[in-house]
Amino acid sequence: MSADVRELIVIGSGPAGYTAALYAARARLRPLVFEGSVESGGALMNTTEVENYPGFADGIMGPELMDSFRKQAERFEAELVADDIVSVDLTGDIKVVTDSAGTEHKARAVILAMGSRYRKLGIPGEEELSGHGVSWCATCDGFFFREQDIAVVGGGDSALEEATFLTRFAKSVNVVHRRDELRASKIMQDRAFANDKIRFTWDTEVDEVVGDGKVSGLKLANVKTAEKSTLPVTGFFEAIGHDPRSELVRGQVDLDDEGYVLVDHPNTRTNLPGVFAAGDLVDKTFRQAVTAAGTGCAAALDAERYLAALD
Ligand code: FAD
Repeated sequence: MSADVRELIVIGSGPAGYTAALYAARARLRPLVFEGSVESGGALMNTTEVENYPGFADGIMGPELMDSFRKQAERFEAELVADDIVSVDLTGDIKVVTDSAGTEHKARAVILAMGSRYRKLGIPGEEELSGHGVSWCATCDGFFFREQDIAVVGGGDSALEEATFLTRFAKSVNVVHRRDELRASKIMQDRAFANDKIRFTWDTEVDEVVGDGKVSGLKLANVKTAEKSTLPVTGFFEAIGHDPRSELVRGQVDLDDEGYVLVDHPNTRTNLPGVFAAGDLVDKTFRQAVTAAGTGCAAALDAERYLAALD
């Protein structure tokens, strides 16, 4: 094999990418990892305390956790590059990925771990108060809102699932929806309507998140009457969907109709030999750091076996 062809390239730097890099590096595959230029470290770089990553009894700040992931991969000589991959050719035996400077990098196997994006409303206050009352993950952050009045925006299954889950902690949960009916499945609706802690604010959009250092309320606008109001809440969960970051591989790797990469479960193989995928790029069900790390590990082991079989 030519010297400029690596064994393995990993694209992505969240829990999935770094865990894949760690396992591959320990297997002496000398992985080259593209971390991304802006958001290297992945989604947890945007959060404050992570209380549910096993092994940290007192919790850990998201960026600190990801720094440990990074250092652990580097310790075994994974080569990390804070750059974006802008195009790929994954169809041949030798995979070619191109970085933002136009340089091509080649490998016999590639692990895709580009994660997903939570959809945002794009309203004032949302960014500033992210991690200070604004959240995209009830499983992750619900516990911080014990006995508080909170709101959830959205009208699909995930909004009602988040709202129902949040009633375990919150005093009240107000579901703000811009229509007068929900998209969510009947069973989720029945469950939410039967829950005393859940209220609905119909035909309403959230215009602004307000608060000085932490959320104190939402500015609302009724889409039918244009009436404005303020909802006093200390927590605000956005549940308006996720988009997997699969644009890079669309047309080469098989995706489902929402754009998630399809793998041959419980394997991490995609439709292309030598191309594996892990983390939130694949998973629309759990979307947790620990599950992303778990599938990152599986992808590295799958890649290792694939490469061994080629030799
Ligand atoms: P990500 O963490 O999204 O990482 C993917 C990374 O790949 C991107 O950030 C980017 O740097 C890189 N990338 C993407 N495209 C390219 C490209 N073309 N080239 C190079 N690099 C690229 N989970 C928990 O378990 N506990 C929590 O408390 C928790 N809190 C959360 C709080 C917030 C605000 C958010 C947004 C999420 C939270 N999650 C939490 C969910 C958790 O962060 C994700 O499930 C996990 O990060 C997914 O890991 P991943 O490796 O699949 O992807």
